[in-house]
Amino acid sequence: MSSTRRFTHVSPLQEYLLERRDEGLIGFVPTMGALHEGHLSLVDKALEECDTVVISIFVNPKQFNNAQDLEKYPRTIEKDIKLLGDREVVVFHPEFSDVYPDKAFEVKLDLGNIADVMEGKFRPGHFDGVVTVVSRLFDIVNPDKAYFGEKDYQQLAVIHRMVEVQERLVEVVPCPILREESGLAMSSRNMLLSNEDKTKASGIYRLLNEAIQRIDERSPKLLAEELRVEFTSEGFDLEYIDITHPLTLETLQNEWVDGARIFIACYIGGVRLIDNIAVK
Ligand code: AMP
Repeated sequence: MSSTRRFTHVSPLQEYLLERRDEGLIGFVPTMGALHEGHLSLVDKALEECDTVVISIFVNPKQFNNAQDLEKYPRTIEKDIKLLGDREVVVFHPEFSDVYPDKAFEVKLDLGNIADVMEGKFRPGHFDGVVTVVSRLFDIVNPDKAYFGEKDYQQLAVIHRMVEVQERLVEVVPCPILREESGLAMSSRNMLLSNEDKTKASGIYRLLNEAIQRIDERSPKLLAEELRVEFTSEGFDLEYIDITHPLTLETLQNEWVDGARIFIACYIGGVRLIDNIAVK
């Protein structure tokens, strides 16, 4: 028996949440579906900390800068609902027109450097799309707490900034990256990989993990250069490797800072994968 409540339209959801608000905190987990254990870890954290948990499942076209990527993105709603099992959650699974009654709706914020580098540089317009959909979903759900994974660490930084700029009262809760046993970061896109490509993709975490063991002898700049050579020689189609400050996301050159992070984006079998790791 499923304990989920499903809503497609905004008004019935909001009516229900109005009742629930009297019971206590509302937690929110925005997703694009094709759920996996990584998503569930966010849901479970929200269930621990909140009285009502809303999970949205919406593939937001506005954050895709590549039509093929959008088309290929997995959509598995009935499987997603099953995976939620007996968790008592509210599933918001809107259509495009529910989220965007005005097709051209757009939120544009000056997010500075954090939105210009890495994903911002290689996926132009991506963070405008993210900020637009999360703003709209926050307006609809009006959560007390919202849960985001460090798997999309730069997105998390962007959301923190957005909340600050928009002076929202929501608390943004970062959640650690869940990985397969092989080390591969869980991702909806992994289901697009062949078994062979999955094995290859587990090399991402292996190389990142090896890299953080040898930071004492190398500057961030040198380590990044080494990683580029290693990934390329192992046959990865690399988009970027960057080692940055954890808050400003500025590239580190000669000095390490506490919490520095290594970021990677690459393609395997035509599938775009991202990962990151904190330097201890
Ligand atoms: P997505 O459906 O890919 O937009 O992801 C929805 C949320 O789940 C985002 O906050 C992601 O960062 C988070 N997430 C995705 N994969 C993982 C993972 N492997 N571990 C933790 N959080 C994740």
